Amino acid sequence: MAKANLGRRDFLKSAGIATLSLAAIGAGVGYLKKLHASDSKNLLRPPGARDEKDFIYACIKCGLCVQICPVGAVKLADIDHNLSYGTPFIDAREQACDFSCGALQCTETCPTSALNFYKFKDVGEAAIIEYVKEHPNAYQDPEFNPIQYQADKMHREVRMGIAKLNPSSCLAVQGKGFHGTPREQGFRGVYLSVNQGDKEACPVNDHHFDREICDLCVTECPIGDTAIVMKKTEENGAMHFRPEVLEGCTGCGVCEMVCPTSQASIVIVPKNQITEKGGEL
Ligand code: SF4
Ligand code: SF4
Ligand code: SF4
Repeated sequence: MAKANLGRRDFLKSAGIATLSLAAIGAGVGYLKKLHASDSKNLLRPPGARDEKDFIYACIKCGLCVQICPVGAVKLADIDHNLSYGTPFIDAREQACDFSCGALQCTETCPTSALNFYKFKDVGEAAIIEYVKEHPNAYQDPEFNPIQYQADKMHREVRMGIAKLNPSSCLAVQGKGFHGTPREQGFRGVYLSVNQGDKEACPVNDHHFDREICDLCVTECPIGDTAIVMKKTEENGAMHFRPEVLEGCTGCGVCEMVCPTSQASIVIVPKNQITEKGGEL
């Protein structure tokens, strides 16, 4: 009888421990999920990153994407980012992803497909095939650079985030121009400006601008007029200007990096904060 009671007591004890353990695991998982969601929300991930939750689980924090980026745009999150610690992100105001590497090198180098290169490779290859179909003599044309063409198409497919204007500080909205070099003395960011005739990424402050109405975010955008345009409207005989971000914006952050106001007047909202409709969560 005593033996039977002991068995029952042991069973109840084990059941109690098991229930408490399950509850603790459940609470732990819930907490981790919450931590992931809140913690990663503001991080701008490198090109080709999978959706945030998949990305977090796929990234092994190897740092290869950091090492390969020729402009040093990719950094690893530090301990302040809790569970995102060690995962890659881009601080566009400090150093944007200017696509000067050619074909998404960070994405290509990722060993786990946390940055999903194949999605973009297929797009690039399909674009080349399409182009050659339409232009059968393409390869005889000295102007045609198939690698560049493929890279351009791939860059356009990337959506790291989307640029968002702060009209209250934007110089163009205030009808103001900009003359000089965009960033503070000692700023170390670099980018390749097609508009300025660069052949490779150059320091931001090597570029000098003389604009009656500021439009640096528009002219320096590596994607061009499918991503951002300067909207001009006339009201009571006066012209008004406002940069308008379009569907083709990839969230590369060049506009945020070159914007000459003390706090950038255009900033990137990371992909994981954008709903399918394009609004912020
Ligand atoms: S290369 Fe891929 S797995 Fe490695 S840190 Fe970068 S995203 Fe993570
Ligand atoms: S670069 Fe900045 S200040 Fe100039 S137009 Fe663009 S957002 Fe406005
Ligand atoms: S507007 Fe152009 S420069 Fe700015 S984030 Fe979008 S693609 Fe990049």
